[in-house]
Amino acid sequence: MGALLARAGIDTVVLEKHADFLRDFRGDTVHPSTLEVLEELGWLDDFLKMPHQEVSRLRVHMQGTELALADFDQVRTSKKFVVFMPQWDFLDFVAERARAYPHFDLRMRTAVVGLVEERGMVRGVRVVGPEGESEIGADLVIAADGRNSLVRDHAGLLVEDIGAPIDVLWFRLPRRESDPRQALGWLANGKFLALLDRGDYWQIAYIIAKGGMNTVQARGIETFRRDLAETVPFLSDRVEELRSFDDVKLLIVRVDRLKRWFKPGLLCIGDAAHAMSPVGGVGINLAIQDAVATANLLAESLRSGAVTTAQLEAVQRRRMLPTRVTQALQVFVQKRVIERALDGRAPLRVGPALRFYDRTAWLHRFPAQLVGVGIRPEHVHSANAP
Ligand SMILES: Cc1cc2nc3c(=O)[nH]c(=O)nc-3n(C[C@H](O)[C@H](O)[C@H](O)COP(=O)(O)OP(=O)(O)OC[C@H]3O[C@@H](n4cnc5c(N)ncnc54)[C@H](O)[C@@H]3O)c2cc1C
Repeated sequence: MGALLARAGIDTVVLEKHADFLRDFRGDTVHPSTLEVLEELGWLDDFLKMPHQEVSRLRVHMQGTELALADFDQVRTSKKFVVFMPQWDFLDFVAERARAYPHFDLRMRTAVVGLVEERGMVRGVRVVGPEGESEIGADLVIAADGRNSLVRDHAGLLVEDIGAPIDVLWFRLPRRESDPRQALGWLANGKFLALLDRGDYWQIAYIIAKGGMNTVQARGIETFRRDLAETVPFLSDRVEELRSFDDVKLLIVRVDRLKRWFKPGLLCIGDAAHAMSPVGGVGINLAIQDAVATANLLAESLRSGAVTTAQLEAVQRRRMLPTRVTQALQVFVQKRVIERALDGRAPLRVGPALRFYDRTAWLHRFPAQLVGVGIRPEHVHSANAP
C-alpha cells in the first residue's frame, strides 16, 4: 500500500512495530494475481531472481494416496504458477523497491498506540518509536495492522466474527535432499499437516481443532512425534528433533470482517478489515488486492489532500465481494473437509468422487482459478509519478 501511494507521488509514512519483517506466521505463498501486480509495477523479473520455488500443480497425500488438488497451468492468467517464498523476503523486496520513491518513508520499530481524532474524524496516529512517543498527522490513516488490529479496535469499528474451528501448530524440522519437493498437504487418520519447503528445513503447519492445544500437550510430545511420523512417513527419521512443546508455536486462526471498513479519515484493509484463515493460502494476496484497489480509487484525490467518506466506502464496496466469496469458501473447506478430517469418528476416505476428481484433469483448474486469481482481480491503474 505504501509503495503504491509513494509511487503515485503521495507522501506516505509506513509504520512497522518490529525491527524487521522476520515474523514467522504468515505463510509463503505469492499467487498469480500478485505476480501480475509485480509485473505491472515492473518488479517481477527481479523478484523472480530471489530464491523461491514455482509450483504449478498442488497435490495432497490423503490416507497414503497422492491426489491432485489444483493445476495452475490451466488458470486464465499469464503467470501459471504459485511462488513459494518466505514472506520476510517478499516484504524486504517490496520495502527496498519502495525506498527508491522519494515520497516513501518506512519507520521500523514504530508502533501505533492510538488514534488522533478531532470531532469524529481521524487526523493521524500516536506512535511509540525509538525516539519515544509522538503523533503523526495524516490526511488518511490506512490500517493494515493484521488480524489483531489495534487500530480497528481503537476506531470502534464493529467486527463480525465468522468463526474458525481450527488453530495451527507451527514448527520446523530439517529438510533432506532425498525428501520430496513441495509435498504440501498430508492428511491421514484424523491428522492434517501442510509442509512448506524452505530449503534446508520444512516449515510445518499442523492443524488442530480450535482450542485443542491443551489436549495435544496433555497427550505428550512422544505421542505428538508419533502422530507426525505416521502422517508424514518420510519425517519419521527426524521427529526426535522436536525436543518439547517449546519448539511448537500455537497460531490462533480467525475468520472475521468489519461491517464498515472505514470512518472519516481512516480505512482498514487486509486482515485488519477481514481476517483470513490459512485455507488456500490466499490472505496475503487478498490483502495486496485491497491495496491495489485502494490506490486505484484514492491516489488521485490523495494527491490534492483528503478523501471523502464516500470514496472510502467505494473501496469497501469494491473489495467486499471477493472478501465474502473467499471467506465463504474458506469456511466451507474448514467445516466440510478439515473439521471432518480431524474428527476421528468419520474420517475422510479416498472414495469414487475423489478418484474421479483426481483423474479428471480439467476439473483441477477451478480451485486453481479461485485461489490463484480469485474474484475481481485488481490491476495497477494508479499513477507512476514519484
Ligand atoms: C497459520 C496461518 C498461516 C497462513 N498462511 C498463509 C499463506 O501461506 N498464504 C497466504 O496468502 N495467507 C496465509 N495466511 C493468512 C495471512 O497470514 C494473512 O491474510 C495476511 O498476512 C494478511 O496481511 P496483512 O498485511 O493484512 O497483515 P499482516 O501480514 O498480519 O501484517 C500486519 C503488519 O502490521 C504490523 N503491526 C501490527 N500492529 C502494529 C502496530 N500497532 N503498529 C505498527 N505495526 C503493527 C505487524 O508487525 C505486521 O508486520 C495464514 C494465516 C495463518 C493464521
